[in-house]
Amino acid sequence: MEKSSYVSRVNQLDAYLLDKEILKIIHDQLNTAYKELSPGLLSRFQPEIDALLKSLIWLNSIYFNKSTFGQQILAITYKNDNLTRNRLIVHYILTILAPYTKEVSHLRFTNKLQLQKVIEWIEFTVKLLSILNFFRFLKNGQYPTVLDYFLRWNHVSESGARMRNIGYAYMNRELIWTGFLELLNVTLPFINYNSLRRKVGQMITSKSKSDQEASKIEPVITVSTLCAICSQRPIIPHHIQCVHVFCYYCIKGSVMADPEFSCPVCDFSYKGEIKHVIVNVE
Ligand SMILES: [Zn+2]
Ligand SMILES: [Zn+2]
Repeated sequence: MEKSSYVSRVNQLDAYLLDKEILKIIHDQLNTAYKELSPGLLSRFQPEIDALLKSLIWLNSIYFNKSTFGQQILAITYKNDNLTRNRLIVHYILTILAPYTKEVSHLRFTNKLQLQKVIEWIEFTVKLLSILNFFRFLKNGQYPTVLDYFLRWNHVSESGARMRNIGYAYMNRELIWTGFLELLNVTLPFINYNSLRRKVGQMITSKSKSDQEASKIEPVITVSTLCAICSQRPIIPHHIQCVHVFCYYCIKGSVMADPEFSCPVCDFSYKGEIKHVIVNVE
């Protein structure tokens, strides 16, 4: 297969992230499988299980295929002649055995402070080198990880490597949606729902307003009385001189939003007066 030595930086970084994701997916699936077992049974051997899993992945990707799974997805491989037997062994030790040792020391040798300190220092050094290496990688476009740099493992792309195009169709759709949402955010607060609902309701039902005179009926409140607006037990019951009862908050809010408010049940118009319902306790 024809190979080109140029691999874009973003592809190299993506391959690295994909590898992490793949490991995480397998990990999560294993964890869901463990759930059925009694707790603590396998957690004692967590470092061994992790190392075994990583070894299997390593064997099937780098050892046999000369590229990690993330690289395979993006049609990248390591340059073949760099993967000598010795370097493969070093790679295995540094990517799998070293993290395994760290895990084991964290879990089982917590009292050996000297050892913990050494490990901490090594970790710190590796992280510092990673940062420096990353800056170098951004400049040169080669060896995205310290280990690749150390082993001089170059990436090459196989023919048929996908071009990275940005999907503008998706962006356009996103822009249209954002614009539409912004429009709604601006216009919605100006719509008076209460009066709109009343007007639409009057248009549909075309009720004749027969009961426009303020009646002298005092609404009676019983155990089963519900607020005509929110259909809950009325809190601080009030009325607008029809037989229906409202929570104070419901009716006050409604008449403030729509001064021509009418009772949603009997269509009685609000006459500018909200009265407290007198509860007769017998
Ligand atoms: Zn209410
Ligand atoms: Zn009413």
